[in-house]
Amino acid sequence: MKLGIFSDVHGNLEALAAVLDFLRNQEVTEYVCLGDIVGYGADPDECVRRIRELRACVVAGNHDHAAVRQTPLETFNDVARRALLWTRQRLTPDSQAYLRALELVEFLPAHSFRLVHGSPSAPRAWHYIESWSDVEYELGFFSDRACLVGHSHVPFVACGDTIRHRVPIDEVQARRITELEFELPNQGAKFLLNVGSVGQPRDGDPRACVVTFTPRTHRMQFHRVEYDIAAAQRKIRAAGLPEILAYRLTLGQ
Ligand code: ZN
Repeated sequence: MKLGIFSDVHGNLEALAAVLDFLRNQEVTEYVCLGDIVGYGADPDECVRRIRELRACVVAGNHDHAAVRQTPLETFNDVARRALLWTRQRLTPDSQAYLRALELVEFLPAHSFRLVHGSPSAPRAWHYIESWSDVEYELGFFSDRACLVGHSHVPFVACGDTIRHRVPIDEVQARRITELEFELPNQGAKFLLNVGSVGQPRDGDPRACVVTFTPRTHRMQFHRVEYDIAAAQRKIRAAGLPEILAYRLTLGQ
């Protein structure tokens, strides 16, 4: 049995489809999504539909919440707000009901994993974990073997007091985490992991980011998956969404 763990799809169907193909080839049978299925990209409803089909364990992200009017649009910058207003018009009532029903925190007791989009200390506040002090602070707010987050679109792995892999504040560090593989101990250390982003990576690597976990061997592995970026960009431009949302996919920023 293998878990496929991903986050921040943001309506990018090309990236999601490539990641799901990749995970099927890896013989993944269970799926975890850490939120922000929608917002920014041109295929929000289809992304919701695909993730529902997986029967994935999913938590709500701030964009999912805002798309169904549970988080105010005023908390977003202008580009995100414009994309969310567009997204709201594209979601079927069924998809809206699905997003509205998502919890902010979920647990996988079999693996002792806690799942939250932003931060374990304040799931509803949508804080970003982006510095050493943020990591140290957040490690105090859970006692599970691992807490898995998304939200910043920048992958990292932190462990107990000793930070195994530095929060990638600069690009060089970010690149170092690409395709990282490590063992998640059964007890002792607790881990805080950001699984990066499928649909809008921001660590300088434009490929979709996804993580697999094999319970039998305790192996946690980061992967990067190529997808048809140009097709996703064409759809964003054709939809009249802000140009920056297409442009930044090439940069992975
Ligand atoms: Zn996001």
